[in-house]
Amino acid sequence: MNIPETGSSRDAIISTMEAFRDGDADAARARLFSLVYATRPDVLEVTQAAYTAFFAENALNPMAFPSLRRMETEVVGMTLSLLHAPEGAAGSMTSGGSESLLLALKTARAWARAERPHVTAPEVLLPATAHPALFKASELLDLRPVVVPMAPGFGADVAAARSLVTDDTILVVGSSPQYPHGVMDPIAELAAIAEERGILCHVDACFGGFMLPWVEKLGHPVPPFDFRVPGVTSISADLHKYGYAAKGASTVLYRTRALRRHQFYAYADWPGGLFVSPGILGTRPGGAIAAAWAVLHYLGQEGYLDLAGRAMRATDAIVRGVRAIPELDVLGEPVMSALAIGARPGNEALDVFVVGELMQARGWYFDRGQSPSSLHLTISPAHDGVAEEFLSDLRASVEEARKSKEQPQGKAALYGMLGSLPDRVFVRDALLDLMDGFDAPGEAKP
Ligand SMILES: *Cc1c(COP(=O)(O)O)cnc(C)c1O
Repeated sequence: MNIPETGSSRDAIISTMEAFRDGDADAARARLFSLVYATRPDVLEVTQAAYTAFFAENALNPMAFPSLRRMETEVVGMTLSLLHAPEGAAGSMTSGGSESLLLALKTARAWARAERPHVTAPEVLLPATAHPALFKASELLDLRPVVVPMAPGFGADVAAARSLVTDDTILVVGSSPQYPHGVMDPIAELAAIAEERGILCHVDACFGGFMLPWVEKLGHPVPPFDFRVPGVTSISADLHKYGYAAKGASTVLYRTRALRRHQFYAYADWPGGLFVSPGILGTRPGGAIAAAWAVLHYLGQEGYLDLAGRAMRATDAIVRGVRAIPELDVLGEPVMSALAIGARPGNEALDVFVVGELMQARGWYFDRGQSPSSLHLTISPAHDGVAEEFLSDLRASVEEARKSKEQPQGKAALYGMLGSLPDRVFVRDALLDLMDGFDAPGEAKP
């Protein structure tokens, strides 16, 4: 395939691209429980307008665009305040949760090099449910991930965490909440372990950072997870999830400015000039910063609280509805608007992946979890209107799965097989093959 010899008209290009969307997951109809955090059309319009207005600006050099520097500083400032950061705290905007986590770990490594010179093979404690971005970051930074197993309620096992800390541990990580089940890790306990040992503690609030504060205000029980917890030294919170910003926006925050300094990179010997950058990216899109600033001002605390209320209303209805289905259960005690649906103990004969396929045939889209098998829902404010329809389709799909004597087929069988295979190296290879196949010549696209 070559770049076309000649250009096409704007209208032709846009209509061709619109046609590409035919097979896409439908976020607008609120049948998508993953990837998109849907609110209202007016919120989308504001973020789009702000993004477009600063579309061409580049936050690489904060001196060239004081507008971006101001908006970034204010977005970080608002996030620090939301998460109860003390005087003297500091943070950065990043391109997403993965970059925020990579930076939190990079900061921990640089801190340890300076403050814990005896550590030659640094280790980081990661709960089994920690986001893969943390395992990826460990690999990139050559840090050894030490996996803390799940306790029965799916939160990190504190006693195990305590026993896994060694003289080489530099950082303890907890999630608030973790993605797979929407369950909180015991942040206060994990942070206390870090504090006792004089090491760092990062809270991955990529998912919950812009939701839990409102959930707490709405009166739901939320265990302390932010800078109010002693021992928490850094937090990541994604703007492009429940902050409803345009994609490409997250924050990473530190209890002290001195700690954040370990995150930066400076190079003084380049013939092209003096270079300093806060994170991973060089060129940084101005649009993502502008859209984040805009949506925080457009919604205000009142708007976020209202949207959180809608998401939680849908969540409560779905949790109650799922628990009323004898064959199904919600796994653990989700703290906010994310949950996993699994088979109720004693009903393991019902394959939830088969239920998932039957729901997908009815137009619903969500992630699949493993060990135990589950269907994962990230619930957005826009789902407020569809909870009852979702539950009635779910009851019908369970009925259909129960009656069908057939073995799971197609994707349901594949998920089940890949989830239960003891040889994880084989499964990793299969995933790499899948990735490799997406652009293979002549291949049907999955
Ligand atoms: C989404 C998420 C991440 C990763 O964020 P990206 O923006 O997808 O890179 C990390 N941790 C948790 C808990 C998340 O939910």
